[in-house]
Amino acid sequence: MFRSLAGRAALLASLCAILPAGAQRASTDVVASAPITGIRYEITADRAALGRRQLRVVTTFDVAGTAPVVLSLPAWTPGAYEIVNFARTVSGFGAVQGADSLRWDKADYDTWRITPTRAGQVRVSFDVTADTLDNGMSWTRPDFTLFNGTNVFLYPEGRSTEFAATVVVKTEPDFLIATGMTPAPEARTFRAASYHELVDMPFFVGTFDLDSATVSGKTVRFATYPRGVFAGAARATAWEQIKRSIPPEVLVFGEVPWDSYTVMHITDSTYGGMSGLEHANSHVDVSAPQGIGSDFQPRLFAHEIFHAWNVKRLRPADLVPYRYDRPQQTTWLWVSEGITDYYGDLALVRGGVVDPKGFYDLTTEKIGEIAQAPPFALEDASLNAWISVRDGTDALYYPKGSLAGFLLDIMIRDASVNRQSLDDVMRDLYRTTYKQGRGFTGEDWWGAVRRASNGRSYEDFQRRYVDGRDPYPWDEALEVVGLRLQADSVPRMGVSLSPEPDGSARVREIAPGSPALGAGIKTGDVIVSVNERPAMQVFFAGGFREMYGAKPAGTPIPVVVKRDGAQLTVQVPLRFGAGAPRLVEDPSAPPRAVRLRNGILRGTTDK
Ligand SMILES: [Zn+2]
Repeated sequence: MFRSLAGRAALLASLCAILPAGAQRASTDVVASAPITGIRYEITADRAALGRRQLRVVTTFDVAGTAPVVLSLPAWTPGAYEIVNFARTVSGFGAVQGADSLRWDKADYDTWRITPTRAGQVRVSFDVTADTLDNGMSWTRPDFTLFNGTNVFLYPEGRSTEFAATVVVKTEPDFLIATGMTPAPEARTFRAASYHELVDMPFFVGTFDLDSATVSGKTVRFATYPRGVFAGAARATAWEQIKRSIPPEVLVFGEVPWDSYTVMHITDSTYGGMSGLEHANSHVDVSAPQGIGSDFQPRLFAHEIFHAWNVKRLRPADLVPYRYDRPQQTTWLWVSEGITDYYGDLALVRGGVVDPKGFYDLTTEKIGEIAQAPPFALEDASLNAWISVRDGTDALYYPKGSLAGFLLDIMIRDASVNRQSLDDVMRDLYRTTYKQGRGFTGEDWWGAVRRASNGRSYEDFQRRYVDGRDPYPWDEALEVVGLRLQADSVPRMGVSLSPEPDGSARVREIAPGSPALGAGIKTGDVIVSVNERPAMQVFFAGGFREMYGAKPAGTPIPVVVKRDGAQLTVQVPLRFGAGAPRLVEDPSAPPRAVRLRNGILRGTTDK
């Protein structure tokens, strides 16, 4: 997953028919279900159901006798590392055989136990309340629904999840359906080869815009709700971003893993920010209207699509197979999320969506984010994903894991003299673990990194920067690729401010010895304007640097301040200080460093 604008969150998901499936067992001692066969799900999403903000779910299957059938709903959606307990949204549960109602009770809070009266078909039905706008959940409007398989599809307890399933969608004749599931010959019918696949393929049903293009030789579809919102130039831009970011990602792994890929996008004004949740052949974005055309949009696309390889297929052994009834803790989200985010940025620069400076700015942003956080270890932050810690490090395995990927890429290119890169590690692991039907272990990961680095040891790196809390060795690493962190001299007043609704800014703190303090500005003052420009524009939109960045120190700055109901003008002398460091190219970098740097930016090595 990936989230922006209004903060971050974590999410990623997965599925792969190739990975071995383990039996699912509830956390309580629920007895395994009697075997069931011919499993078929029917989802009713017509106008009447959507009007009630509900989906009707009917599950039919065959039983061989009267042994209890034990069925569960997942507690979470892979990729969204949080326990949601989808059984909470179920109402009107019932089970019948022909005209006979069957006896049922609950075995635990997300498990139903049904007692058939004879061999033959059983029909289980319930309603799901679909009123939550979230990538991993279900949501309705009068003309539309998003639903995730984890929310609606029951699985038999203690049985293999490797069962084929059929889904039939009952809806209006004029409604469209978009899903990554394989269409069957029958109308509005879809098939999945396993339960993992089934719950990894969310649905859009209703009225929405849908078009497609061929990218890297395969079909990509773009489904957007509501109709007409993601249109015209905005849609053309989105398509351009998708078309440019996929090919560099394909090059990392050497194959397109999907038959078709669907970008599913919902825009709604009730949603804060913009986020995505990945799947094996689709992803679901939810966005505020301001998200369309934002700088974050291409980052989200590139991040979510890269997950189709990294975490949907190449995945830590801790998450193989997914189990849906409890959290699956792992120390590896810095790879699954963080390195996905590194490759999201690389796809943008390698595909020409951003220029090298754009890539450096994205990296600078991450360095700044970590600089402001308390020291933390990548592995610990990954384990903490499930509990959304409130110590200031929540979800920071994204930027810090991304930077770890950048560091490893530099170290591998350095040790191999640009013959190998992190790309080779990702491809190596993809082939040696995912393609062999398993998840990767620490031995797999560090072994691949070592192999790509002419045998260089990463024990110290792992101890200090992955399991430990040491600050990253930027100076040493960046020199290898002809980059450095440069702190520019920027104009400063020495005040920390908070915006006020009327466009002014309240002084929260004043730095000791600052020009503002010397000029008589006080904590609690409200700054109305600076050199006749509204305070908000000056302090929160780059105006201060624009107005005074090139003026000589000592230039008087007229600041209008409100204090105790009175308004006064204060002259603050201009002073300069070090700004936050930003990543820049070193113009005097030797050719070797430039070659390594270009290798990262272009996705090339000197094999
Ligand atoms: Zn993600």
